[in-house]
Amino acid sequence: MDSRRDFLGKITAAAIAIPFLKKVNVAMKENNENQMLKVAIMGLGSYGTRVADAMQQCKKAKLTGLISGTPSKLLSWQNKYQISPENCYNYDNFDNIKTNSEIDAVYVITPNALHHDEVIRVAKAGKHVICEKPMAINVTEAREMIDACEKANVKLLVGYRLHFEPHTLEVIRQRSTGEFGKITFFQGLSGFAIGDPNQWRLNKNLSGGGSMMDIGIYSVNGSRYMVGEDPVWVTAEETKNDPGKFKEGIDETMQFQLGFPGGAVASCLSTYSMNDLDRFFLNGTNGFAELYPATGYGPIRGKTNKGEITQPDVTQQTLQMDEMADIILRGKTPIVAVDGEEALKDLKIIEAVYQAAATGKKVELNWKE
Ligand code: NAD
Repeated sequence: MDSRRDFLGKITAAAIAIPFLKKVNVAMKENNENQMLKVAIMGLGSYGTRVADAMQQCKKAKLTGLISGTPSKLLSWQNKYQISPENCYNYDNFDNIKTNSEIDAVYVITPNALHHDEVIRVAKAGKHVICEKPMAINVTEAREMIDACEKANVKLLVGYRLHFEPHTLEVIRQRSTGEFGKITFFQGLSGFAIGDPNQWRLNKNLSGGGSMMDIGIYSVNGSRYMVGEDPVWVTAEETKNDPGKFKEGIDETMQFQLGFPGGAVASCLSTYSMNDLDRFFLNGTNGFAELYPATGYGPIRGKTNKGEITQPDVTQQTLQMDEMADIILRGKTPIVAVDGEEALKDLKIIEAVYQAAATGKKVELNWKE
């Protein structure tokens, strides 16, 4: 009798609970769908400004906090972007974001060598991290950052804005559906003439390297998403015409070649000494694709053997931050990965480029390690 009453009681409770839970689930889903990613920017420099401006048009992400070592910048940004003073921090006290519910994620946009420690501190404060490229200055640091974010149960994304860019995604779509046939060749040209010799990009302690770390990484990353594979060998040659400006450890111009498991080869140039080099070319047995410009802030332009690629022009950082809000808050999977493991691959290839240039030898890449 008791067990029957228990049973009936449970049935009744379940009958009430199931529709109730369904309603709660729907409400939670709706809430989650409308939730904006609340982002603090760390490093209020030139790219940080571009991201902050672009975020003003975001529908799913919102600039809510600032981290800077310069009080006057914090003040002017607070006024410009309507940021509450309670959400502003410096490099000594930003661990306190831990208790700030107005910040879900921190976008680290500081010189490359600082990313490692800053990302780990953000993770320890329990906040998601978006980090600029290159994610770190070597593979060891990158691995530590990935591990720290995993341990803290926060997401780590890297600012690969082109992974969301419509012309780029159209080439990737056509390549993956076989429009170009078997991929045989990629060419990546990435470079610009760098100015001020005293900037952090030319200081190895802050940059971690020269053109490869800053602009060559676009050809490294682009070769992978254009070909659709990870390279298995690297050769490289460095040219230095101005050793006064480009000191030890700062590569001025690097030519590098990559070999892919499917047989395709890539030929790439990374330089701090030539104006406006920004072109990707992909060749296959049935056709080709060209992106030119391929990686600038836009508009990106492209064509294939069938004609011009017509896709909308976007503000890349607006689209990136909306997509990253979906990835962080709603678990969306991007077409091309933007996580720490993706960024670690680029660093592994860059390390191999440096090693190949230093030794004059072909460097094999083992992805199973
Ligand atoms: P920047 O020099 O304009 O800004 C760097 C900011 O970091 C400045 O506000 C500076 O005050 C601050 N900073 C904090 N600690 C510092 C220190 N110890 N030394 C020097 N500066 C310090 O540089 P940027 O062009 O904004 O580049 C920042 C990061 O963004 C780099 O990692 C760079 O590779 C990346 N970036 C990415 C893109 C892209 O398209 N994804 C474009 C430009 C830069």
